[in-house]
Amino acid sequence: LRLSEQTLKRQLDEIRSLQEQLQDQASRDPLTGMYNRRFLDLIADREIARCLREGRPLTLMMIDVDHFKKVNDTYGHPGGDEVLKNLAALLIGKVRTTDVPCRYGGEEFLLLLPGMPPDIALARAEHWRETFAAMTSMSGALAIKATLSVGVAMYPTHATTMAELIHCADLALYRAKDGGRNRVVFYREEMATTEG
Ligand code: GH3
Ligand code: MG
Ligand code: MG
Repeated sequence: LRLSEQTLKRQLDEIRSLQEQLQDQASRDPLTGMYNRRFLDLIADREIARCLREGRPLTLMMIDVDHFKKVNDTYGHPGGDEVLKNLAALLIGKVRTTDVPCRYGGEEFLLLLPGMPPDIALARAEHWRETFAAMTSMSGALAIKATLSVGVAMYPTHATTMAELIHCADLALYRAKDGGRNRVVFYREEMATTEG
């Protein structure tokens, strides 16, 4: 039995391509095609280190769909899934190639935006909030409306590790919910000390 060099090369290429596909699948959420938490954990430190080296800021946004339980209760899980897919498409469509849009939890999305200054970040978040609120998702013939809340935190102003940065964005998100939802809240130092 003798394989020609060309056949061997073709098989190697195939294996490499399959490996890449597998790696990509392991990094992504199947419903939305977004990166998953596993991938975020893999690249988080590297992204922070790069921004430190380049003296650039990094924005982290935590985005959570408002009253999503009610969406599921009213329209069923497939209806809820449709809303998540539409939101993911909106978020993926508006980011740069260096940005990392992740599905962080069920109806929670985390965006890592290296090099993005705070004013641009807030305008971007506000744009997503408005656009999503104006969107309609369809579940069969039923029209579903939903809103979202956003917590925004910055490296290095607010935190120097990814875990701290996520915590800050979470606190800001909590304020957005508490303040009535369908809003964007920028993290402030006093949120760390005062609860509620
Ligand atoms: P809040 O405005 O405070 O965020 O209220 P909420 O109802 O959105 O909050 P909560 O986090 O309690 O509910 C999230 C719900 O998301 C609960 C869970 O059933 C639903 N969920 C999680 N993952 C999925 C999913 O993949 N598809 C669908 N359809 N629903 C999901
Ligand atoms: Mg949630
Ligand atoms: Mg929610």
